[in-house]
Amino acid sequence: MPKTPDEIIRDEIRALAAYHVPDPGGMVKLDAMENPYRLPPELCGTIAARVASAALNRYPDPGARELKTRLREAMQIPAGMELVLGNGSDELIQMLALAAAKPGAMMLGVEPSFVMFRMIATCAGMGYVGVTLNQDFTLDLARISEAIELHQPALIFIAYPNNPTGNLFDANAMARVIEAAPGIVVVDEAYHAFAGASFLPRLAEFPNLLVMRTVSKLGLAGLRLGLLAGHGAWLSHVDKVRLPYNVNVLTQLVAAEVLLHRDVLEAQAAAIRAERARVLAELRRLRGVEAYVSDANFILFRVDRADQAFSGLKQRGILIKNLNGTHPLLADCLRVTVGTPDENAQFLSALTATLDS
Ligand SMILES: *Cc1c(COP(=O)(O)O)cnc(C)c1O
Repeated sequence: MPKTPDEIIRDEIRALAAYHVPDPGGMVKLDAMENPYRLPPELCGTIAARVASAALNRYPDPGARELKTRLREAMQIPAGMELVLGNGSDELIQMLALAAAKPGAMMLGVEPSFVMFRMIATCAGMGYVGVTLNQDFTLDLARISEAIELHQPALIFIAYPNNPTGNLFDANAMARVIEAAPGIVVVDEAYHAFAGASFLPRLAEFPNLLVMRTVSKLGLAGLRLGLLAGHGAWLSHVDKVRLPYNVNVLTQLVAAEVLLHRDVLEAQAAAIRAERARVLAELRRLRGVEAYVSDANFILFRVDRADQAFSGLKQRGILIKNLNGTHPLLADCLRVTVGTPDENAQFLSALTATLDS
């Protein structure tokens, strides 16, 4: 008899809950921070022509040279800094964890934040320590310093802006964390297109800083492409963990083409930022709703009974994210992605109806 899964699978993996992605069916999908806009038909035509002539019989360029050149221009990667590309930034988090997972090594994050940090640490065999944010979602520097002192984390991940709270942390507080860290600090800028701040121009200031970006929230979530920028002294090792063909031919080619027309994505991001201001103002006019300022493409808000509001919205065909029960600071909190003006209007009227019922 072969052994059972309980005997073979690592304890920490058996204890994990699978990352659950709900089926949106025909609902208005405002749960996953996607850009609601498609690419214009003309650009789709150009992409189709390039895809038609792609050499799908060949392995991709393992160095993704053309795409890296485009990304360097589009994201203004500082001269002298290296890039590693991932199949989404999730894969980059995984590469970093695999590279740093010495026996007993720790990852540190703040809480509440992106749940994949903890999940990937666990899968890679690293310990994870989460330091709770202040009530107003700012960094608690005293507790972070204490945790750094105690756990000597090999890796620290900070999302900037943070998900699911939507705020940018104070840049001076971030710099203190980077200076106090004994290992790598990764600033995860998944929402950079919607924020006015970045640590990318400051890479040279901190020898232990890496900056991570993704094209997902920008409007290309389906492509799966993330990038890690920083000093070659770190990235040369991370790159050895990368599987050689992790960014496929179609992703390389389509992303490179779209980045030539990045004015399209920038205009979409500007429209989303304008809508964000409008949705926030509307939410704040509703009785019993506390909505938080956001530097991302989503808004966190608190209601009297989040579970009821969430299912009321669902019954009315609107899917958002219910965060109630995921962390004490998020009691009765919901998170809505900013959609098109029409989707946002549908969300706001469904929420009004739900809260009135
Ligand atoms: C969405 C998100 C990511 C994941 O991005 P992918 O490139 O799609 O894997 C990473 N970090 C944060 C904070 C996110 O919210």
